[in-house]
Amino acid sequence: MSVGAPADLHPRNTMLVSWNCSGEVHLLIGVSALTYTRVQSILTNGATPIVITQLIDSDDKIPHNLLVLEQEGSVQILRRQVDIGKDLFTLGRDEVRGVVDKVYVNLPTTEEELKRAIFKECQSNRIPINTTESVEYSTFTMLSTHTDGDFQLGVTTSGKGCKLASRIKREIVSQLPKNINEICQSVGALRLKIQEEDRQKLSKFKEEYERFLREELGEHEDDAVQSSKFNNFVSEFNMTETQKKLQRSRWLSQVVEYYPLSKLADISIDDISSAYSISSGDAHTGYETPLSSKQIKGSISLVGSGPGSVSLLTIGALQEISSADLVLADKLVPQQVLDLIPIKTEKFIARKFPGNAEAAQEELLSLGLQALKLGKKVVRLKQGDPYIFGRGGEEYIFFAKHGFVPTVLPGITSALSSTVSSQIPATQRDVADQVLICTGTGRRGVLPNIPEFVETRTTVFLMSLHRIQDLVPALIAKGWDPKVPAAIVERSSCPDQRVTRTRLEDLVDAVEAIGSRPPGLLVIGRACEVLTGPIEERWRVQEGYETEDFQVSDLLKTVTA
Ligand code: SAH
Repeated sequence: MSVGAPADLHPRNTMLVSWNCSGEVHLLIGVSALTYTRVQSILTNGATPIVITQLIDSDDKIPHNLLVLEQEGSVQILRRQVDIGKDLFTLGRDEVRGVVDKVYVNLPTTEEELKRAIFKECQSNRIPINTTESVEYSTFTMLSTHTDGDFQLGVTTSGKGCKLASRIKREIVSQLPKNINEICQSVGALRLKIQEEDRQKLSKFKEEYERFLREELGEHEDDAVQSSKFNNFVSEFNMTETQKKLQRSRWLSQVVEYYPLSKLADISIDDISSAYSISSGDAHTGYETPLSSKQIKGSISLVGSGPGSVSLLTIGALQEISSADLVLADKLVPQQVLDLIPIKTEKFIARKFPGNAEAAQEELLSLGLQALKLGKKVVRLKQGDPYIFGRGGEEYIFFAKHGFVPTVLPGITSALSSTVSSQIPATQRDVADQVLICTGTGRRGVLPNIPEFVETRTTVFLMSLHRIQDLVPALIAKGWDPKVPAAIVERSSCPDQRVTRTRLEDLVDAVEAIGSRPPGLLVIGRACEVLTGPIEERWRVQEGYETEDFQVSDLLKTVTA
């Protein structure tokens, strides 16, 4: 009588396993564009790939990356016909008498006969085989995988489409906590530690037990002594240790089951130790006490707040603002955005004024760090986008160096919202095919590198209006067309927005005439007059910004209330 389920009971199901391929030899028959990725994954998993291809004369069809691996000696490519009866049984490692460990077949549909023959040979010799696009000639299929250190995920659609599997995998991966590897490491290390400590205790128990048998029982064979000592001993070393062991393992399982996944990376052996010393046998009460009293590590995000209007704030930024313990804001972040910070939340606005920029920046960073060390959630709110002239990169490095890696949320940069709010299409067919964002102020107040003039480019100069007297002559000296249209956009997207349209040669006079309404920037390029047409006068001023801010603020207040 045969044992096991009939072969076709669940024909659609396959058993998902994770193979340890270390030291194995994997044979790939045939080459395609996928071979390089397959070979890479074989190498990553510690196995040796051997490729057999009939493309004997020309290497043209062999992917270049694969040839590079061959030159490096990472893969052997045999340029000849496969000899089924021989290759499967001689190319493998000695430990398994030359039989290859896995076979991957990737042959054109015209080679149906050969595929079938290879499959039959593998099947009868129990060599796992995968044949591309042929489930019927495969004993295993490849999963779409994701690896992050110790964490691995595999997805299969049972042959319904590897692209679909890959897409589903990406969706799942995007939902995982970012520290998934840390979580695995941390929980794994805890398990190991508990097991090790238990083993030590149990071996101590064994020693004590043997000593007890030897000293207490062997030397004094008095019934009364024996029974009283034995009972003490049992309760002290046997019962209690077993209980504690169970309790700690139960505690860990409970935590893994119920605690927020992303927080699992933070649990320490101290938590467990205090849990089982506090609790009197109930794992539930045991694990809640230490975790709630445990100091949660502070977190920081660098958040772009957009150019000014709350309607240009992202939902992510809003979420961060409303869940912060401390908001550290740029001086430029406008009032209507600051108004969204809940009253209970601490806030600090950078005291950055001419001459003390460095000191103000340091003050802000050290305040952030102090709060982080107290376990607070710090939100560093930055005008526009944090990485466009906002020193966002420097701040990232600073906090990361101190052990607090920031989450960074982009914002709408004033460089690109200003063109929209002043009716300038930054790119426009036949007019502008590129955009350059640069600064009008270099380090320590000197002029920056002056870009070339490109007819079809829209150039946005941030931090430029106070340097306009130096900037304009420098541009003209570099070959910029003095007649090229320009626009000064100030307080873009705020109710008091002002747009001044002019030309490069009239910019200095225009700025002198209108004064300044910071923050403001300069847009230069032919796109400036695409929608509004050329101006006749030397400059033309346009006031105001059509905004829905009032309603938006009300809406947000109800959302965040
Ligand atoms: N990170 C910011 C830029 C910071 S540099 C961003 O992405 O927008 C500061 C410069 O930004 C100012 O000197 C000014 O040139 C420009 N700027 C910021 N907000 C602005 C606004 N609402 N309107 C016009 N220019 C603005």
